[in-house]
Amino acid sequence: MGYYPAVPELAEFDVLVIGSGASGLAAAVSAESAGARVALATKTTLQACNSAKAQGGIQAAFGQDDSSEIHAQDVLASSHDTADPKLVEVLTSEAQAAINWLEECGVEFTRANGGYRLARCGGASRKRLLQVGDRTGHAITKALRDRFESGSGTALTHHTLAELSPDENGWQATFATREGEVRVLAGSVVLAAGGRCYREAQERHELSTNHANATGEVTRIALAAGAEARDLDALQYHPNGGAWPTSMQGYSIPETTRAYGAVLVNADGEEFTDSLGPRDTVSQAIFDEVAKGQGVLTPDGRPAVWLDTTRISEEDAEISLPYMLRRYRGGGIDPLNEKILTYPVLHYQNGGLVIDEHAETTLEGVFACGEIAGGTHGRNRMMGNSLLECTVFGPRAGKAAAEKAQA
Ligand SMILES: Cc1cc2nc3c(=O)[nH]c(=O)nc-3n(C[C@H](O)[C@H](O)[C@H](O)COP(=O)(O)OP(=O)(O)OC[C@H]3O[C@@H](n4cnc5c(N)ncnc54)[C@H](O)[C@@H]3O)c2cc1C
Repeated sequence: MGYYPAVPELAEFDVLVIGSGASGLAAAVSAESAGARVALATKTTLQACNSAKAQGGIQAAFGQDDSSEIHAQDVLASSHDTADPKLVEVLTSEAQAAINWLEECGVEFTRANGGYRLARCGGASRKRLLQVGDRTGHAITKALRDRFESGSGTALTHHTLAELSPDENGWQATFATREGEVRVLAGSVVLAAGGRCYREAQERHELSTNHANATGEVTRIALAAGAEARDLDALQYHPNGGAWPTSMQGYSIPETTRAYGAVLVNADGEEFTDSLGPRDTVSQAIFDEVAKGQGVLTPDGRPAVWLDTTRISEEDAEISLPYMLRRYRGGGIDPLNEKILTYPVLHYQNGGLVIDEHAETTLEGVFACGEIAGGTHGRNRMMGNSLLECTVFGPRAGKAAAEKAQA
């Protein structure tokens, strides 16, 4: 792998990928496998992204009682029939192959009883969530990064995309760097720059689970270049943001806590919703419970309800929630002995750039994958389907972008 500043002024590549989360890494690795000369540009370091923060897991229909068709039905139902059925079909039918590919790249999913340890996540009718302990996103990005770094692609770190414009042989990208403005030419471009919930939360004076690089300017750049978007107003609240202690505020308590038995209870200790319902339904139920005066206040006066984590078995917690346990215990609370305080927190951009099955946007030669793309989840994403989207549509985008650039 090469690193800037080995890149000359106005360097030229076949495929330029923007963003080093799971989708960008997957696209870059796949474009290179398809024979393209690849550059991967990212705002800060290769490691900095939301993908690496993902804990819970990734969906794929491996259960005996499950199938990709049932997975697709769950996605469509959770989206309230707003997802694009063609994209959902690709997502769910290629899920098993995506898991196999991640394993080839070195990801070791947690196993039990001769198969994968599967959990049921919110909105799912079957146990379908594969995990790597509770650091699934870290494991996936590390494996993909290792794969990228062992190839011949060029990493353009500390390159913030500022403009994208058509060029006679493809696209010209302008970056802000520490050394000033840098321009790169590419036959095709893959936008994999994630969502905007960090910036959105700042503007709303709310907490967010997101990495500070989730600021959304690449979507605006694509729109300015003429790309179409959908459902951009549909932002997702994670039902279980940490509310107390202060060190856990903005932390996303993995949905797998609820998959392994934790339930939401109000001030009177009563369950007030199906804790494994779709995310928008569960978040709304919490907002409503607090509005009815049935919530509790954190010691610093924030609204909250209880997540009764004492119902999780010690074995499940040790295998599937060790990071969460460490974080809370470090803050002086043992979730296996006492309930924890939680409140919804801004988490995910459901909508994004319109793409087709090959992840091409409405601009020829510009592809989009991961959180920046819209349609796969409609207006309400299920947990575990974003990492899957990155590893299904990232490779599709990389391969199609390589073919386009080499045509
Ligand atoms: C705390 C947390 C827990 C989660 N848990 C799960 C889970 O268990 N399962 C699941 O499926 N999903 C989960 N998600 C969602 C999922 O992780 C993300 O939606 C997904 O990984 C996004 O991947 P991405 O590649 O699209 O974007 P990201 O991983 O966000 O990467 C975007 C990249 O683009 C770069 N970038 C941004 N702007 C620019 C610019 N102008 N120029 C150059 N580069 C730029 C960033 O630096 C970054 O490298 C979680 C998210 C969070 C925040």
